Amino acid sequence: DTFPIDPIQENYVRRVRRCIFSAVYPTPFHSRVQLVAVSQDVLENILDLDSSVAETGDFLQIVSGGRIVPGSLPLAHRYGGHQFGIWAGQLGDGRAHLIGAYTNRYGDRWELQLKGSGKTPYSRDGDGRAVLRSSIREFLCSEAMYYLGIPTSRAASLVVSDDGVWRDQFYNGNLNKERGAVVLRVAKSWFRIGSLEELAFSQELDLLRKLLDFVIQEYFPLVDASSSYRYLDFFSRVVSQTANLMSLWISVGFAHGVCNTDNFSLLSITIDYGPFGFMESYDPNFVPNTSDDEGRYKIGNQASIGMFNLNKLLQALSPLLSPREKHLALKILEGYPDLYYNRFAELFRVKLGFLGESEDDGLLITLFLKLMEDTKADFTMTFRQLSEITQDQLADNNIPQEFWALRDVAVHTSFSDWVVLYLLRLQKNTSDSDTKRRQRMTRVNPRYVLRNWMAESAIRKAEMNDFTEVRLLQQVLQKPFQMQAKAEEAGYSLRPPSWAKNLKVSCSS
Ligand code: AMP
Ligand code: MG
Ligand code: MG
Repeated sequence: DTFPIDPIQENYVRRVRRCIFSAVYPTPFHSRVQLVAVSQDVLENILDLDSSVAETGDFLQIVSGGRIVPGSLPLAHRYGGHQFGIWAGQLGDGRAHLIGAYTNRYGDRWELQLKGSGKTPYSRDGDGRAVLRSSIREFLCSEAMYYLGIPTSRAASLVVSDDGVWRDQFYNGNLNKERGAVVLRVAKSWFRIGSLEELAFSQELDLLRKLLDFVIQEYFPLVDASSSYRYLDFFSRVVSQTANLMSLWISVGFAHGVCNTDNFSLLSITIDYGPFGFMESYDPNFVPNTSDDEGRYKIGNQASIGMFNLNKLLQALSPLLSPREKHLALKILEGYPDLYYNRFAELFRVKLGFLGESEDDGLLITLFLKLMEDTKADFTMTFRQLSEITQDQLADNNIPQEFWALRDVAVHTSFSDWVVLYLLRLQKNTSDSDTKRRQRMTRVNPRYVLRNWMAESAIRKAEMNDFTEVRLLQQVLQKPFQMQAKAEEAGYSLRPPSWAKNLKVSCSS
């Protein structure tokens, strides 16, 4: 009862005003539903459940939107957003239902949201559904990001129904019948930059203030909520946390694909997984989303898009700021590039095994990335293999056959020069050994990330009701830094298969 709620009306799509949520029930599937996967960690350590509940019919009913937990009033959130740089007006949860909040045994409050669970007032011309392939991608990737140490929403479960859902995957006008799926997603909060923007654009300043105060109170305990500078303090924290998230994304080669303000969390966690991609050969122009013709959200643009989105956040806050505060907020925003670059440099120093900081570290990082770019070397495996090879092997230019990515970089005419500088830099690490360096590096440079071809292979089997590969990937990606026999067998650390080059991922989901 914190916010005004648009009451349950007939479930028609409409322009909603003066509320932050609309009450609306999920739409149950007509046909059979099956459990595809669950996250044992989310069930046990976030929701305090014994993972055997996943075998019950009640569980399947609840996580597919077929039944409501007693006492729950499902809600769809009203938000707006800038899509591809342009104000899009009201968006909102068009296919998601918040089914409740849960405070667990650690005292942490988590919000549970179904995605793909039917129409809401915010469905616009959508059907309120999500297809199996995109739900598998969201389920696997959000969990994988968590285990990579990147702030993200989590996924508790994934179910598929036999209900048909029609999608044009390739934007060629041909509709394919796919199956509807639902992911139960959990996050500390689902509020986005677009949540505040919608209220500012609609001039609902009382609600804007109410939501902002709530967000600060609930999720920014370090902001003094009684201070007159609380909005500035909040903004400055979102600026630095966004810089942090953008640098973490690039540190694992993750491109979100749709960095609209409605997909940017106020808590700076990764949300709304769609046409994302992990960059394979190193390329700042990597665009994961084939519908993004202009490459607005290419991986090399993400950092500056972060700043664009923060500027939109500032615009949304502006009606609540004095001229002086606006001026200060702009100064804070101007600090973003440095915050980003410093965090980026820190992460890459660690990826290269450096202890402390040395003058030429930036140069060594830039040069290494340039070598990778010129040789189109695999981003993930180059860093990984640099973590696994010994300094002696490097010094002797003796790169074993199985270090395929590193061998790709080594053909560069400047590689040996870089190695000389690199080995000199490693000598500056105090009280270090090569064993320790390699241990450190293998703990931050993953061996396994969710490459498109891996997801695609699992999806193709899942379309035929074989969920073993989804579960295998889930299991492997829980330990991305640890070599695993099953993953090696499946080729997850090998050069991507040639068919993977032509894979396309679009917004259609
Ligand atoms: P996204 O870029 O996938 O995060 O979605 C952008 C907006 O479109 C959000 O408001 C979604 O809720 C909405 N949306 C996407 N797909 C559908 C769908 N099939 N039915 C209804 N709304 C959708
Ligand atoms: Mg979204
Ligand atoms: Mg969505």
